Amino acid sequence: MDDCLFCRIAAGTVPATIVHRDEETIAFRDINPRAPFHVLVVPRKHLATMNDLGPEDERMTGHLFRVAASLVREAGYAERGWRAVMNANADAGQTVFHLHLHVLAGRAMTWPPG
Ligand code: 5GP
Ligand code: ZN
Repeated sequence: MDDCLFCRIAAGTVPATIVHRDEETIAFRDINPRAPFHVLVVPRKHLATMNDLGPEDERMTGHLFRVAASLVREAGYAERGWRAVMNANADAGQTVFHLHLHVLAGRAMTWPPG
């Protein structure tokens, strides 16, 4: 997907501060961080939103959460607390239409999200 920002980051043609990569996922710092720790965990496979997940994606979605947990643990936030969020479409405020898990930590957060 040449016109997809996160496909281009995954391919290395758009720069980002990469914090993790493996066969299935890539993780990098959000350009507009909403918390002291704000990383996006992104599958290499292009799916626009959670609405596009199929049964073949179950392993990959679990993997996104395991990568998130390991990055948070490495950064020292695991016990204090953290949040993982995935937005889908307009009401949730999705702006980049390539599936991604926001991983936020380093400050107290409110519930419910706005
Ligand atoms: P969404 O609003 O779709 O849930 O999240 C998209 C996220 O991507 C936003 O938090 C935004 O700051 C981040 N973002 C947008 N463009 C770029 C970029 O070029 N590089 C990086 N690292 N993050 C981006
Ligand atoms: Zn993409």
